[in-house]
Amino acid sequence: MTDPGTTAIFGSFALTEQDGAQAVLRDHWVLLEGRRIAAVTPTRPQADVVLDRPGRFLLPGLINLHNHCFSEMLARTHTEDGAGRKNNKSIVYTVLMPLSRRGLELYTPEERMAVARLGVLQLLKGGNATVMEPFRNGLPEMFAAAEEMGLRFYGAPYLFSTADAVAGADGVVRYAGDDGAADLAAWNALYDTWEGRDDGRIRLAMSPHATDTVGPDLFRTATARARELGVPNTTHLAQSPGEVATIRTRYDRTPAEYLDWLGVLGPDLLAAHCVDCTDDDLRLMAARRTTVLNCPRVFARAGTVASYAHFRAHGLRTVIGTDGYNLDLLGEMNAAAIISKTSAGSATVASAPELIDAVTRDAAAAIGRDDLGVIRPGARADITAIDVGHPHLQPLYEPRRALVWLANRANLDLVLVDGRLLIEGGRYIHADEAAITAAGVAAIGKIWDLPQAQAAFAG
Ligand SMILES: [Zn+2]
Repeated sequence: MTDPGTTAIFGSFALTEQDGAQAVLRDHWVLLEGRRIAAVTPTRPQADVVLDRPGRFLLPGLINLHNHCFSEMLARTHTEDGAGRKNNKSIVYTVLMPLSRRGLELYTPEERMAVARLGVLQLLKGGNATVMEPFRNGLPEMFAAAEEMGLRFYGAPYLFSTADAVAGADGVVRYAGDDGAADLAAWNALYDTWEGRDDGRIRLAMSPHATDTVGPDLFRTATARARELGVPNTTHLAQSPGEVATIRTRYDRTPAEYLDWLGVLGPDLLAAHCVDCTDDDLRLMAARRTTVLNCPRVFARAGTVASYAHFRAHGLRTVIGTDGYNLDLLGEMNAAAIISKTSAGSATVASAPELIDAVTRDAAAAIGRDDLGVIRPGARADITAIDVGHPHLQPLYEPRRALVWLANRANLDLVLVDGRLLIEGGRYIHADEAAITAAGVAAIGKIWDLPQAQAAFAG
């Protein structure tokens, strides 16, 4: 990308740090120079571009460490209200895995790019500046779309021992395939192509898919490779009762015990969901300093509680992701607050500042990035700005509470990544949103029309 020059943004509120604690400044400017934040100042600085409008709440670029653009786009509006899960409560094995696999067999490279662009557009319009995206390695266009559209991206192409996990009519999951070596080779090739592109904006994470689809040897090999390269390691852990039953049958362990047995649990592991972990599992994970990726709304859809506060109460670093369902980080924070408080029976858990940390500083720490998730000189010039001037956000006493409890995605004003303005007035400014949407819809529709998909949604 060309040098973005200098940009000055006025915030009626700006989220910063003071003495290591989260702090909100009134009426400050943030000056971006190139890809870095240069200053946070009460006086108007000189800059090439001046974004001066009252009512903005300036946040560090929000960080979403668990999302799937493609697989969940396949499922949306087909799988709410219990559809697609009659014989197996998790749509992972009835809809997501089989249909994403089938789709990648059918698609042209142009269709894959259309899906990837629509996903990235939704992410940016959901306030996300940094996204970790696990996906099947047959969709490498995720990297190209993120690079093209300006998102900060941790692509996490899956490794599977058994990529073909499908629930039968009896609800039992059957595992097939032997893909470990090929997937590791594909991951290494994608690493060689994409790691560090555009001054480090495009990165990779290691991504063994889940405890039931990745065997011991592949988990060990993938984790060793991640540690050799110093990249984050992410997986799905205890995301369904079916997975827990499978790991009990195979290894007489819980999924968390399985990973600990293999030496995979550690501070470099980002474990998605963990909803079927026992309290002992969570204590074990806390002792290993593993991070939990909490995605409350996708589980609420199925009647399952995924409480941010529950994981925090076990001492676990817990961050908030969208799992691809809705791709709206503000909505996900709101869901995290509601689900945590109702399930704990307490108003004090999952406070607004805590939840904001979960998509800024805590998420940055989970991937070893002290230059993200914070507005201070020297940090990366990533900003998400919310317009809190809307009538439903006024009058306003505490902007962080307004953000979590009252704001929504339609109040997004700006997203900048590496100093480059991507979203302004809530719109993506570098391409035609309607054209991106139409192309993505056409590609997804090609799968929805398959008899296999119709049967999966009905089953
Ligand atoms: Zn996931």
